[in-house]
Amino acid sequence: MGRIHILSDNVANQIAAGEVVERPASVVKELLENSLDAGSTELRLDVENGGRRLIRIADNGCGMMRDDALLAFERHATSKLSNVRDLLAIATLGFRGEALPSIASVSRLLLETRAEEESTGTRIEIAGGKLLKVEEMALPRGTTITVRDLFFNVPARKKFLRTEPTELAHIASLVTHYSLAHPDKTFQLRNGANDLLSVTPVSEIRERVFQVFGSQVLTELVDLGTHEREFPGDEVGIVNQYRLRGFVSGPQVQKLNRNSIYLFVNGRLIRDRLLLHGLTSGYAQLIPPGTYPFALLFLDCDPGEVDVNVHPSKTEVRFRQGSFVHDFVRDSVRRTLTQSRPIIAAPAPASFAQPVAFAQPGAALPYSEFTQTLESGPPPPPSELFAAGELPTHLPEVALPSWQLRPEPGPSPRFDFGDPQLPMPSPTLGHPGFVRGPVPDTHGGLPAGSYAEAVNLEALKDLRPIGQLHESFIIAAGRDGLWIIDQHVAHERILFEQVLRQQAAGKVERQQLLVPLVLELTAGQAIEYERIAQELDRAGFDTAPMGRRAIAVQAAPADIGPAQVERVVLEILETAESEMRRASLEEIRRNVAASIGCRAAIKINMALDMTKMEWLLKKLGECEYPMSCPHGRPIALRYSMREILKSFHRI
Ligand code: ADP
Ligand code: MG
Repeated sequence: MGRIHILSDNVANQIAAGEVVERPASVVKELLENSLDAGSTELRLDVENGGRRLIRIADNGCGMMRDDALLAFERHATSKLSNVRDLLAIATLGFRGEALPSIASVSRLLLETRAEEESTGTRIEIAGGKLLKVEEMALPRGTTITVRDLFFNVPARKKFLRTEPTELAHIASLVTHYSLAHPDKTFQLRNGANDLLSVTPVSEIRERVFQVFGSQVLTELVDLGTHEREFPGDEVGIVNQYRLRGFVSGPQVQKLNRNSIYLFVNGRLIRDRLLLHGLTSGYAQLIPPGTYPFALLFLDCDPGEVDVNVHPSKTEVRFRQGSFVHDFVRDSVRRTLTQSRPIIAAPAPASFAQPVAFAQPGAALPYSEFTQTLESGPPPPPSELFAAGELPTHLPEVALPSWQLRPEPGPSPRFDFGDPQLPMPSPTLGHPGFVRGPVPDTHGGLPAGSYAEAVNLEALKDLRPIGQLHESFIIAAGRDGLWIIDQHVAHERILFEQVLRQQAAGKVERQQLLVPLVLELTAGQAIEYERIAQELDRAGFDTAPMGRRAIAVQAAPADIGPAQVERVVLEILETAESEMRRASLEEIRRNVAASIGCRAAIKINMALDMTKMEWLLKKLGECEYPMSCPHGRPIALRYSMREILKSFHRI
């Protein structure tokens, strides 16, 4: 007898379960997706012991007829696909016909379902893949699936399950994600007697964000609106429409991991490095490298433009036009941030820094199955991100290991405040450590108009400087409140954008050095020099190699003083060597501009007269991104009139 035989269905299902059912949250994901595909408008989930003891999902979808219900547990049984051509344009969340048999093979499963067409419902019991009982029963329309004792027959898998809070957090994060993608549906999640999430239908994503996270988070988010871009189709006259909607945070939100990035493609929750990279590129020079925004992105396109059949858990996708999609996301995010110019309200709202009382507990749980895996690996090589010949202009940044910003070059700014009691911003960056005032009231319903107070840096244009605080911060009065502007970073931003513009126009003003400056280079710097010599020239440095390990600088941009030339050139070479090895010329260019901006900007502890302050505010108002400096630090804070009046008990 031959040695090869066909595996029994049960073994095959358990093998498939190895890929599809990783943990309780993966069961929840498959069942949720089935309920959504079934057209349900109400999805109620109960779990016990983090989903290890019980997962139950009840929906009011189309239900299944008796024969279909039995068939659903056969391998590759699906109602969503019938031929290979369908596979090229999948519009449902499921299509592989693997989930139910896989889950049933590693748990005790109970299915109760009734289709509209039938007067009685069907109840099916399965344990470890074995059909135990099929009964007729009076049931409401829809489907309830109960999964008990996950992995009871696969002890090896059971051992890998984490603690209850961890598994629960994964489930909560997942249900929260899906509830955000479907604001028009009811979602409920309970763990034992605890309500973790409970949201009723609303007409807009904005309202769902409010329901899930509370009003405070919403005020810190910028609505992307709807961005659309077309890509020419294969046939003449056909175009493929891409649409991007969602919410992103302003530059004041700087998270240490990607857990607050929610990506959906055609309603499917995915993890995708290409989209993630497009998003973070939109924030380049707005938040420090190695930090991440909050983002909720919904990308919709023709199902034929995206291959979802990449991985059994269907959480990865492949775009036909990867590079186009990457740039579309990057540009849309950047444009939105430019136009909305979000400003940090002071006292800094607590929402992103600490859990908000109003947010649903499920939303506050920290883990995200879909972003964690992205965390672990190093940035993908470009070849993985983009198909050959589609290299984008930006490549992955090298993430800094900690939250700390890259220290600013040169001596770190020191404050010489006389009064140590004075509440001052802490020099560590991220969410600024301002002394917290009363946290705005987040209770009650969605107050009309107030959740998205139109605060932005347009207001800079009408500011009137009042004076300077500690010769470092400009205090200014505006129609809508009191402003504090960090003079150094403000000027840094102004110069940064000015240098970029001059570079683009090829019109950098240079000054000849009286005596050429000779710089000795390390081997690494010498290699980098060869690579970026042209960029240095573009930025206004006339340099020439002298032998193998030295260069002579003959001219430098007029903005920086002769005394600083050496430091700036070395700094540029160092960044190029240490962090930017894989960076594009575009990124190096921006770094060169940031370096010049930082050196040439007015410092703190420097007195400014009124004219200078007025000039600075005016120029800042004209900037494209006046909200943060090129290293990602906030530039301006605003105490709104409302906060001021409230604090004086006048409202
Ligand atoms: P897939 O979703 O890939 O088709 P599944 O194994 O998840 O495969 O489900 C098999 C089939 O069972 C589905 O195609 C669908 O017809 C049916 N089904 C599963 N869950 C539900 C549900 N909640 N309501 C109605 N039909 C369902
Ligand atoms: Mg399915």
